[in-house]
Amino acid sequence: MTKRIIHWFRRDLRLDDNTALLAAHAATKAIVPVFIFDDAILRRPDTGANRVAFLLASLRDLDERLRARGGRLILRRGRPEEALAQLVAETEAAAVHFNLDVEPFALARDARVTARLAGLCAVAGFEDGGLTAPTAIKTKSGTPYTVFTPYKNAVLAQAIPRPRPAPDAIQTPSNISSDPLPTLAALGFTTAATLPPGGESAAQARLSDFIQAGLGRYATERDALAKDGTSGLSPYLRFGCLSPRRVCWAARDAFPEGAPDAEAWIAELIWRDFYRQILFHFPYVETGAFKRAFDELAWENNEEWLDRWRNGRTGFPIVDAAMRQLLTTGWMHNRARMIVASFLTKDLLIDWRRGERHFMTHLVDGDLAANNGGWQWAASTGTDAQPYFRIFNPTAQGKKFDPTGAYIRRYVPELRAVPERWIHEPARMPPDAQRAFRCVIGDDYPAPIADHARQRAKALALFGRPSGDAPAIGAAGAGRRQTTAGRRGSSS
Ligand SMILES: Cc1cc2nc3c(=O)[nH]c(=O)nc-3n(C[C@H](O)[C@H](O)[C@H](O)COP(=O)(O)OP(=O)(O)OC[C@H]3O[C@@H](n4cnc5c(N)ncnc54)[C@H](O)[C@@H]3O)c2cc1C
Repeated sequence: MTKRIIHWFRRDLRLDDNTALLAAHAATKAIVPVFIFDDAILRRPDTGANRVAFLLASLRDLDERLRARGGRLILRRGRPEEALAQLVAETEAAAVHFNLDVEPFALARDARVTARLAGLCAVAGFEDGGLTAPTAIKTKSGTPYTVFTPYKNAVLAQAIPRPRPAPDAIQTPSNISSDPLPTLAALGFTTAATLPPGGESAAQARLSDFIQAGLGRYATERDALAKDGTSGLSPYLRFGCLSPRRVCWAARDAFPEGAPDAEAWIAELIWRDFYRQILFHFPYVETGAFKRAFDELAWENNEEWLDRWRNGRTGFPIVDAAMRQLLTTGWMHNRARMIVASFLTKDLLIDWRRGERHFMTHLVDGDLAANNGGWQWAASTGTDAQPYFRIFNPTAQGKKFDPTGAYIRRYVPELRAVPERWIHEPARMPPDAQRAFRCVIGDDYPAPIADHARQRAKALALFGRPSGDAPAIGAAGAGRRQTTAGRRGSSS
């Protein structure tokens, strides 16, 4: 019998530049591609409908792409170790291949799978999810990097592998049964959000469009909230519909070395790797602060404020627009993520983990490593080596990154008729203007739930005197944004 290898798809829902799949293909064309619906993931409270919907679309596309090469996707449901052991028995496969993950849950699952399959077949995990492996880049003293810029420089000093094309032919044995692709409802989810199309085909089209039409403006337009100045590729990278190496080289091949737009974009991809390796080496960040002393911060956790934040009813237009963008599209602009995360933690004094959970529940690109890294960056509990304390002023951020209010008007219909001069502070409108522009504060749109200056002072006190051994952190001021472009966010 021809040697058979099972490729277990997880967060690598593509054929292009798929390291484990290509390794299988180098050994045999008789590949059994399988995806296993794992109830332990489906039942997690932060597994959101938007991501499950995107996953289903991506699996449909993956099956079509496999069929175009002579294969097909086998679907199973259950505990992966049992489903795989069963599939090995059915197919007499010589090996199970998969691409490695960095999340604690996945690492524990993969250890269980490896133990269960011991003696049944070979098991091989491959590094695939980043530009570099999380263990590949270490400081001179052999420790993981915990500061971004030197990490980025170390990544750039290495050769980032060129992507390899998809296998041309895959022969999935015909006698293997597959469950049908379930509907979203059958999995117990429902969503009204308008999501991007899932799958490798849509990912490749979007990458190519962005390289041609968007990347040349990235450095100047990436922060402009109302313009679609970023790639929108995050859900595809999250599910592995695209290889990060393919994305990186697409930019490098299209732009000359040193081109600021391509450099700035590749730096963002390196942020993704950075947080992957942080999660891998410091798995405790999943539940607590990277700087452990900040676990002791006495957050106020006002539940009503949390509720208003979640629903985009804070009375701060830029915050409300962003939170409603999340609810209606399952995605939020990076600048907006920074603004609302700063607002939740520094203005509302609510534990960053509450915000992280809400994001995870709704984001179509929700990813433990990036989401946790982003939240800890915003909450100043993370790796960020800032010498001063960062508190965004939401109104100033709105004026700077959405100067005409176009982004606000897109997501907050109550403010659509409000003129530019009041769009960022509608509560300042005189009563007759409120009536004229159909935005009566307190009726049509809420008054600001908190006073920024007062809350800022409270945040400084909170962070300056955490109980335990936490170092007091310095004076207020503008923070460096989460980028290597070196620009500064507006100060409070
Ligand atoms: C509080 C907070 C939470 C976040 N949660 C997530 C999350 O759950 N999933 C997620 O993919 N990103 C997260 N990010 C990072 C970032 O906001 C998104 O990756 C970005 O908005 C995606 O849009 P894009 O694809 O158009 O990005 P582009 O600007 O086109 O960047 C290209 C790719 O680089 C990666 N990337 C960009 N910025 C970052 C970053 N700061 N950290 C890590 N990777 C980055 C993404 O994969 C992105 O698709 C979060 C940021 C913050 C501040």
